[in-house]
Amino acid sequence: MLQMKNKCEHCHKVLVHENEETYICSYECTYCKECVETVLKNTCPNCGGNFEKRPLRFTK
Ligand SMILES: [Zn+2]
Ligand SMILES: [Zn+2]
Repeated sequence: MLQMKNKCEHCHKVLVHENEETYICSYECTYCKECVETVLKNTCPNCGGNFEKRPLRFTK
């Protein structure tokens, strides 16, 4: 089974995959929607990349 990061790297909130909107950057830093929108302003503090919403389901 694929190991997923399930915590926001900023606020350390546990992200329940089905319930939370989760954002990842190009280097797979993981954050909750709230931090991305209100704290990080859509820019990753680690690598300066933009975020993408993580798909709720992987079909592989
Ligand atoms: Zn967060
Ligand atoms: Zn990043």
